[in-house]
Amino acid sequence: METKEFKAESKRLLDLMINSIYTHREIFLRELISNASDAIDKLYYRSLTDGNTGLSRDDFSIRLAVDKENRIFTIQDNGCGMSQEELENNLGTIARSGSLQFKQENETKEDVDIIGQFGVGFYSAFMVASCVTVESKQFGSDTAYRWESHGADGYVIEPCQKEEHGTTITLKIKENTEDDNYDEFLDPHRISAIVKKYSDYIRYPIKMDMPASRLKEGCPEDKPEYEQYLQNETLNSMVPIWKKMKSEVTDEDYNEFYKEKFFDYENPARIIHSSTEGSATYQALMFIPARAPFNYYSRDYEKGLQLYASGVLIMEKCADLLPDCFSFVKGLVDSQDLSLNISREMLQHDRQLKLIAGRLEKKIHSELLSMLQNEREKYEAFYKNFGLQLKYGVYGDYGAKKDLLSDLLLFYSSSEKKLVTLSEYVGRMKESQKYIYYACGDTVEKIDRLPQTELVRDNGYEILYLTEDVDEFALKMLLEFEKKEFRSVSDSDLGLEDEKEKEQAKQKNEENKDLLSCMKDALKDKVKDVRLSSRLKSHPVCLSSQGALSLEMEKVLNTMPGDNKVKAERVLEINASHPVFASMQKLFESDQEKIKTYADLLYTQALLIEGMPIEDPVKFSNAICDLMAEK
Ligand code: ADP
Ligand code: MG
Repeated sequence: METKEFKAESKRLLDLMINSIYTHREIFLRELISNASDAIDKLYYRSLTDGNTGLSRDDFSIRLAVDKENRIFTIQDNGCGMSQEELENNLGTIARSGSLQFKQENETKEDVDIIGQFGVGFYSAFMVASCVTVESKQFGSDTAYRWESHGADGYVIEPCQKEEHGTTITLKIKENTEDDNYDEFLDPHRISAIVKKYSDYIRYPIKMDMPASRLKEGCPEDKPEYEQYLQNETLNSMVPIWKKMKSEVTDEDYNEFYKEKFFDYENPARIIHSSTEGSATYQALMFIPARAPFNYYSRDYEKGLQLYASGVLIMEKCADLLPDCFSFVKGLVDSQDLSLNISREMLQHDRQLKLIAGRLEKKIHSELLSMLQNEREKYEAFYKNFGLQLKYGVYGDYGAKKDLLSDLLLFYSSSEKKLVTLSEYVGRMKESQKYIYYACGDTVEKIDRLPQTELVRDNGYEILYLTEDVDEFALKMLLEFEKKEFRSVSDSDLGLEDEKEKEQAKQKNEENKDLLSCMKDALKDKVKDVRLSSRLKSHPVCLSSQGALSLEMEKVLNTMPGDNKVKAERVLEINASHPVFASMQKLFESDQEKIKTYADLLYTQALLIEGMPIEDPVKFSNAICDLMAEK
């Protein structure tokens, strides 16, 4: 018999398969089952269009068998089968240059899971088998042919005996080595689990048979490992839950499915089941977990949805389907617009994938919004877990998703004493109010006490309390909401004074020019300016900033690793109507040295109020004690 060589490309792909150090070898089964299903599809289609085949849907099945003793695994279908020529063309040359190239380019990168991501087809059988035999008979033909290969050496094709049309593939499972155990592919339970995992939704029944050698011996009773399969039980459920009508599925079904599939012990907070036809045809079943996974806010967490192509799992975690801001969503997408293969087509699929991802993003957003509007309590629980991610989402990616997310944000409100949305805030704004005010601090209680909030509060305006590091960055990225700008209560212009008041304030600063510049000199470059405050009413002093960087942002940025420390332009604000200022005015005429000490004390107190580190606590404490000791 003449041994034929594989075409060069195929040979290389084959080499990669044979020597695969790939850990998910089990996917060979997914590939063979999907080919079997494709072959049945073809014949089934013919039976639908040509009434003379005498075949109906119920005639079709895919049958598996394992023979442990002889290390043989078989998979059999009664699909269209292959002619001699087709065996030659389809199995001798495999035009998969796309995946091959990709694999070679990325070979050094261990984490590139090309096989797991996209089907590599028939050759994957060589990951588990030392010899692969394909016996096939085309529907309507009299002769059957056998294709056989031990791998890289080549293959032979010869006529053979085969009763039924279709294809039987026989794998001689590799012997175990020190590092690898192949026995699992001879265990009916394991095989059944692999079928469930990857091929549950194949539309034709997949069944486990007794191996031919055993049947001949006629003693199935003493082979307990086959017993449960001998009932002719179908291994796959054939209809995936996401292909069912919503009305056919109970919440219980969804919840169980979610917990089993996505390894959660709690029911999901929300179920999103959608089905779309048109420019992109797909079914999506997504879940919002009730609780953030323990590693959610760490680098370990991997986002992504399972991706199915017509019921066949092709990717465990397709990251491209989810924007980062919704990375908490679990679930799957099944589309018939996608095929199992990478290859040139992949580019088009990419576009299709983007289209689907865009739709999903809108869908998730609208579901969250409806939860916010109709189930506030539930939404707040969700927000507790994932609100931070939404805010990172606003800030991240140069604000690309900020418009999508702005109506999903919640912040604590000074007047409502609970979380409010931006649109609720704007809806409550007074006619005279120009800005959406916010204040930053560690906790709500601390912000409540901030002197800077006094004036805004006295005007009867609501303030949003920002307690998380990312908050102010997110608002700065948003710039405005419903045409209302955000403004920090520490901002130099709060938009509260009219022209007359502004003029008065300016005048007052002018009158005390010498005193203020004396203080400024004493503080050197610690502050950019010392000013009489228009925001303080009862408190003597506070710190504010001018320029783009706020004190809060300075704090956050400086906690990040690296030597690039930043500094906000600080302004020390003094309350001109506070007695301490009157006493400084008096001192200024007699004792300028003391003014310097006072300036330092006031600055340090302002730092303390802000919760910022002070340079020399001992000096500060001693200076206070000196004052206390004075008669
Ligand atoms: P793909 O399925 O992506 O085309 P594969 O490498 O999985 O690539 O299979 C190569 C080809 O071999 C298939 O396109 C099909 O024509 C043929 N083939 C494989 N398995 C079968 C089968 N069980 N029945 C009929 N044809 C098959
Ligand atoms: Mg295939």
